[in-house]
Amino acid sequence: EAITVQELANRMAERGGEVVKALFKMGVMATITQTIDADTAELVVEEFGHKAKRVSADDIEIGLRDAEGDDTGNLSDRPPVITIMGHVDHGKTSLLDALRKTDVAAHEAGGITQHIGAYQIVTPSGNKLTFLDTPGHAAFTEMRARGADVTDIVILVVAADDGIMAQTVEAISHAKAAEKPIIVAINKIDKPEANPDRVKNELLQHELVPEDMGGDIICVPVSAVTGQGLDNLEESIALQAELMELQANSDRRAEGVVVEAKLEQGRGSVATVLVRRGTLKVGDIFVAGSESGRVRALLNDRGEQVKSAGPSEPVEVLGLSGTPEAGDELIVVEDDARAREVAAFRHEKRRQTELAAQGRGTLDQMLSKIKEGEAQSLPVVIKTDVHGSLEAILGTLQRLGTEEVQVQVLHSGVGGINESDITLARASAAIILAFNVRANAQARELARRDGVDIRYYSIIYELIDDMKQALSGMLAPEQ
Ligand code: GDP
Repeated sequence: EAITVQELANRMAERGGEVVKALFKMGVMATITQTIDADTAELVVEEFGHKAKRVSADDIEIGLRDAEGDDTGNLSDRPPVITIMGHVDHGKTSLLDALRKTDVAAHEAGGITQHIGAYQIVTPSGNKLTFLDTPGHAAFTEMRARGADVTDIVILVVAADDGIMAQTVEAISHAKAAEKPIIVAINKIDKPEANPDRVKNELLQHELVPEDMGGDIICVPVSAVTGQGLDNLEESIALQAELMELQANSDRRAEGVVVEAKLEQGRGSVATVLVRRGTLKVGDIFVAGSESGRVRALLNDRGEQVKSAGPSEPVEVLGLSGTPEAGDELIVVEDDARAREVAAFRHEKRRQTELAAQGRGTLDQMLSKIKEGEAQSLPVVIKTDVHGSLEAILGTLQRLGTEEVQVQVLHSGVGGINESDITLARASAAIILAFNVRANAQARELARRDGVDIRYYSIIYELIDDMKQALSGMLAPEQ
């Protein structure tokens, strides 16, 4: 319920002694091992210039990222970070490659393309765009579930000859759950059987209304093969980014997110980091996940050594003590001692999170949240065997809601439960309702690992009843 002075210091990455001193100034006598209440802790946090966020009534999360007053300093525009999603074979990889070839900066430099997990291009009209190189919604949502929500804009690729397919719908749900703007790239328009209008009509069924049909969804016909329309797509992205007023302070210690990391022979642990704010420089001491290190070298996506990397720039970082995980946060700190301190704290926190994961996203937990007034909606993912039952369930659930609480359907579809459903549920702390369908082996394993609750039903009435009870907060504890 309360927090020890030591832990508070750790969370802020401040020295314990400094926290004791600050408390003393506030008239609170406490030693390093003593506990203080959340109110006092919050004051201390603010005293140190951090931002405190109440996770619950008596726990506060301290964003290390806010350690330097965040981005209120010298803000300047930063490039957008884009993730490409869509159905398999609709051309995600081809589009990533084709967009990369439009980079006007590459011609001068003549470096060799390196696949490091992300790349940045300069468009012919001078806009910088950063693309995450791992297409697909699983990677996107996995990162989001880990708190590394780096994507600004989602490009939804739909093949003009194939139209909206199962994974397209999944991608739409993932993008919507993350509240990311979607730009639709209608791909393969070079094909004779391409039918962009059909794609637009299908989008309507998923509440994405194209601009020329009176909505706000930009649809750009492209061909990853001929390059047709890529300039329009880039302009649309740049325009969307401008509307979003994406900004960051490049004049501070760097913070970023690990996009990819591996252990390489001869190079040691290598991580691709997407800088979110500040400037990462050679020589910087940092923590990445529960690893620490000093930047020995930085390489860009053409394999060239660079001295620094600013906001939205992806770089390979050499000089890590071990291999962090994708989604880990990298933070530059002032010295080695601090780096070790934060790394140790994160190590412990990770262990605790893993323990806690076993109970996350369960219906009971969600109910207690609703009771505490934290949640107004009960997020669910619904999978059924046939369309008829899906529609019946969706229709009934919609009518269940009251002013205070309602069921929020993040994604629904016909078919078995897959990994995409689990990652989505996890990222949004949702439960999964399975009607006459099972989870595949990978999904079951993932659900078990991440503590995602899957509820199986074969009678609609029972499912509805559970939801009804859930909403009224009367459901008896499981088992
Ligand atoms: P992904 O699974 O979404 O990454 O799709 P890929 O990029 O691997 O593309 C799947 C197939 O579609 C490949 O054979 C590509 O050559 C082909 N393809 C991709 N984009 C286009 C396009 O614009 N026009 C045509 N004709 N074929 C394309």
